This record gives sequence, structure tokens and C-alpha cells, in this order.
Amino acid sequence: MKLVKLIANLGYGSRKDVAWMFREGRITDVDGEVLYADDKVEHACIRLDGEPLDPPPGLALMMHKPLGVTCSRKDPGRVVYDLLPPRYRVRDPALSTVGRLDRDTSGLLLFTDDGALLHRIISPKAEVTKVYEATLAEDLRGDEAALFASGTLLLESETTPLAPAALEVLGPRHARLTVTEGRYHQVRRMFAATGNRVETLERVAIGTLGLDGLAPGAWRALDADDVARIF
Ligand code: URA
Repeated sequence: MKLVKLIANLGYGSRKDVAWMFREGRITDVDGEVLYADDKVEHACIRLDGEPLDPPPGLALMMHKPLGVTCSRKDPGRVVYDLLPPRYRVRDPALSTVGRLDRDTSGLLLFTDDGALLHRIISPKAEVTKVYEATLAEDLRGDEAALFASGTLLLESETTPLAPAALEVLGPRHARLTVTEGRYHQVRRMFAATGNRVETLERVAIGTLGLDGLAPGAWRALDADDVARIF
């Protein structure tokens, strides 16, 4: 791919903007030698204003989604893309969230521009585990673990029962729930089906990939080992 297109697709500017960056000598190799638009150079060896370029397509990121931001691209309020550098919003191929978390749910949120990876993670057939910690408005009754594990729980207005899910009781109103599906408001609706109400909800892991000490609002790129921990 031509360098102008490659850099423009990463969201650094239009092709016209990037052509100007070449003319201004802002694009160099690792030794600071000015590059020209028709040079042939490896992605990893290109510098813009002395900084390495963002990763090429095939990118995956993890974020500690804070409360109060939505997982959409456009929303009158704050969206998760506002927490990434602005150019990540206009990359081509586009960077999408891998599933969604509610505005009032915090925790591990993945992004990728790799459609095949996204489908591997969200496909119910893949049975990728999603681990949530919930605090509840009422004490647990004691029969929730058996009900969630049964594979017979039918959520309101649905016709297919939920796949078995594992509940670990952490306290009278505190539980960890591991599910393999990603239905709409699934965790809140599961507890609602037992007459309870989720007060706080955090996704703490996807597969064995955890939040890894990331502060709310922080994000980082995933490497191949991180991606392997999802499956
Ligand atoms: N289940 C929910 O109810 N909400 C989320 O954000 C994620 C899972």
C-alpha cells in the first residue's frame, strides 16, 4: 500500500493532509531521514514527528470502561471512543467495540478492527467466558446458582433458554457470574428473573484476560499472548 494511504487510513488526516506531512518533512525513518511518499518502508520503521505510527490493521485494544460512558459511536453524552486518541475513531478499517457494556456497567471492554477476531469472540458457539461481579439490592435467595447452571432459565420476552452460567457467591449481596453468551442486559435480567436487582456491575474478565491493573478510563493494545487468553 502507498504510504500516503497507509498513514491516512490510520486516521492521522486526509490523504491531502498526509501528502503535506511528507512535503513538510514530518515523516521520517527511524534514523530521522526524511521519507518520500513513494518510498517503500516497513510500517514499524516509519516515524511521524519522531513518533512511531499506531499499530497497523489487525489491532486489538482493551479498555477499563468507566461508568457513565456509552459503547456507541454517536451519542449526546460521552462515548468510549472519547477515551481513545481522536484518530482511532476514523481508522480504516474501523475500530469497533467487541460487544457492548451498558452505560452503567464498568470493566473490561475490547475493541478491534479485525472482523474475524470480533466474530470469534462474540459468537455464542465459541463459548468465550465473560466474568461479571455484581452487587445486588436484595440478599441472594440461595437457589440462584442452581437456576443459572440449569440451562433452563428463560428471560422475559425470549424463546430460547440461557446457556448454563456459573454463579459464585461472594457475600449476601455480592456475586461473581460467568456467562458464555452476550444477550441484551443479560446479567441484570438474570438477577431480575430471581426477584433481585443489580446495583453495580463490573466485567472483570473475558476468558482469562482480566483488567490487569488498568485504571478506569485507561486502555492499552493487546499482544498475541493477551489475545490467546481470551479463548
Ligand atoms: N449484562 C448486563 O446486564 N449489562 C452489561 O453491561 C453486560 C452484561
